Amino acid sequence: MCYNVPMNIETLLSQIKFGLSAVELDQLPFDDGYEVVFVGRSNSGKSSTLNAFTRKGMAHTSKTPGRTQQINVFILDEQRRLIDMPGYGYAKVPPRIKKHWERIMDDYFRERRCLKGIFLIMDIRHPLKEFDYLMIEWAVASHLPLHILLNKADKLTFSESSKTLAEVNKAIEPYAPTITAQIFSAEKKTGLAVAYKVLKPWFGIN
Ligand code: GDP
Repeated sequence: MCYNVPMNIETLLSQIKFGLSAVELDQLPFDDGYEVVFVGRSNSGKSSTLNAFTRKGMAHTSKTPGRTQQINVFILDEQRRLIDMPGYGYAKVPPRIKKHWERIMDDYFRERRCLKGIFLIMDIRHPLKEFDYLMIEWAVASHLPLHILLNKADKLTFSESSKTLAEVNKAIEPYAPTITAQIFSAEKKTGLAVAYKVLKPWFGIN
C-alpha cells in the first residue's frame, strides 16, 4: 500500500484519533510500525501533556469513569501510535491491581517490538518517586530510550526548575544516554520544541 507520510511532526500529531482501549496486551493493534508510550503517576499531568503534544483534547477520554485503568491507544497514521498507559499514585494501589498492572507493563516494555520510546511525566515538585524509578529500570532493562518531562514547571521559578533538573540529571547520569530529562509545562506549552526533537526519531522522522 502506498500513502503519504507527513514528515512534519506537528501535522502528524494533529491527526490524532482515538483508536481503542485495552485491558490486555493481546487487544493492542498488531505489533508493527512505531509506538511511543506516555507513563506517569496519577496527577503528574499525563493527559494534559498528551493534549499539549497534539493540541487536541483527546486524552481527556482517559478520565471517563471505567477507562482510567485501561491502555488507551491513539492513532496518528497507519504506522504510528501514541499509547496512554494508566498511571497510579503508586503507593496507594491495592496489591492485586499493582501486580496485574506490573505484569502488563513489564510484558509491554519487554515484548512490544514497535515500542520505540517512553515519555515519563513527573510533577517537577515531586520528581523521582518509586513509580518513576520502576519505569526507568524497565526502560534500561529493555534498552528503550526514556525521556522525563518535569511537568508543571510554571509552578516554580526558573531557578527552582533548573535546580530540580540538575538534581534529576545527576540521578539519571548512570543511565545516560538512555534516560534523559527536560523542564516542561503542559499548561504553558513550555519545552514542546525540545520534546518534539526527542519524539521525531522515535517515529522514524528526520
Ligand atoms: P494525569 O492524572 O496525570 O492525567 O493528570 P492531568 O493531566 O489530569 O492533570 C492533573 C492536574 O494537574 C490537573 O488539574 C491539570 O490542570 C494540572 N496540570 C497538568 N499539567 C499542568 C501544568 O503544566 N501546569 C499546571 N500548573 N498544572 C498542570
